[in-house]
Amino acid sequence: MLQRTRNGKGKTVLVAGGAGFVGSHLCDALLARGDRVICVDSYLTGSEDNVRPLLNHPGFRLIEMDICDLEAIDVPVSQVYNLACAASPPQYQADPVHTMMTCVAGTGNLLAIAEQNDASFLQASTSEVYGDPVEHPQREDYRGNVNCIGPRACYDEGKRAAEALCFDMLRAGRVDARVARIFNTYGPRMQPNDGRIISNLLVQAISGEPLTIYGTGEQTRSFCFVSDLVAGLMALMDVDPNPEGPVNLGNPGEFTINELAAMVLDMVPTTSRIVHRPLPQDDPQRRRPDISKARELLGWQPQIPLSEGLKHTAGWFIATLGEPAADLSS
Ligand code: NAD
Ligand code: UDP
Repeated sequence: MLQRTRNGKGKTVLVAGGAGFVGSHLCDALLARGDRVICVDSYLTGSEDNVRPLLNHPGFRLIEMDICDLEAIDVPVSQVYNLACAASPPQYQADPVHTMMTCVAGTGNLLAIAEQNDASFLQASTSEVYGDPVEHPQREDYRGNVNCIGPRACYDEGKRAAEALCFDMLRAGRVDARVARIFNTYGPRMQPNDGRIISNLLVQAISGEPLTIYGTGEQTRSFCFVSDLVAGLMALMDVDPNPEGPVNLGNPGEFTINELAAMVLDMVPTTSRIVHRPLPQDDPQRRRPDISKARELLGWQPQIPLSEGLKHTAGWFIATLGEPAADLSS
């Protein structure tokens, strides 16, 4: 049953992590529908470039701050999106204690602001809560297989703790909290040095460097284009009543990393070849969302297949970094 959508237009919306890859696209979409946006970001992994076109927009305001230090907002807000957290494994492992504190203390601060403002709250959680999954595809009722003391734990367990905090606040009647479990998302504005697979492969192909595949490359991921994800996040925030449980948002199309690398080599003119590097510890072997819940409750499903989104993203990286290094004409 498709649930009713609350009219989300014309609100003041707080977007934590709004200068990041996904967050900046969310800010664009909220402003485009007539909302005012307050973006809070520390620029840890985001960039002012992502929001530069918005800086002169009358409905946009930027606060440069770590969410671990954010105590209050000086204007009333009616929705709070929490996307603030490094999302790439090398980035979130660079300072794992800060990643955990961002997920727990930072999310706690934003929930307190939502409570003070009687605002709805959306937490950007992750498919990483399923760890290296034993059940496939992953449904929301699967409890996961996470190594709670490994190098990914700061993120996986941090996000699990953040989910627990959201549902405790919801059960206590204190915050209208919603949780999106986001699967691998890609698109323009990923940082070239971000370290995630799609940006790595595209940047390597464009600059003529070897394409790095960790392990055999037979591990799988399911890749969602960013505009599809943003539509899903807004639908989840605006749906009435609150689904009162996590909702997977991702594209169920599942690809091995070898298949992805082959698509990149087909798409970008390059002399790059594939090299294999060791598989990082606890790297999940396969991942694919079951999105039945999002389809039913939000009427949402991704529209952009990987071939199309990858082409668009490659075009953006080429425009940003310059033409591919390879001259294949001779
Ligand atoms: P990103 O790294 O591009 O964006 C995160 C943003 O949060 C950056 O602008 C960064 O500067 C900011 N930030 C980080 N820690 C902060 C802190 N303590 N205080 C204030 N700002 C802080 O990552 P993204 O891909 O845009 O991911 C956005 C959110 O979605 C994250 O919470 C991530 O966990 C979640 N998510 C993303 C994916 C994905 O594939 N993109 C998958 C699952 C979950
Ligand atoms: N990966 C890879 N080469 C890279 C970066 C990542 O083979 O240069 C692999 C990584 O080991 C994982 C998959 O690609 O199996 C997706 O990695 P990413 O960091 O993008 O996301 P996550 O592991 O968090 O899903």
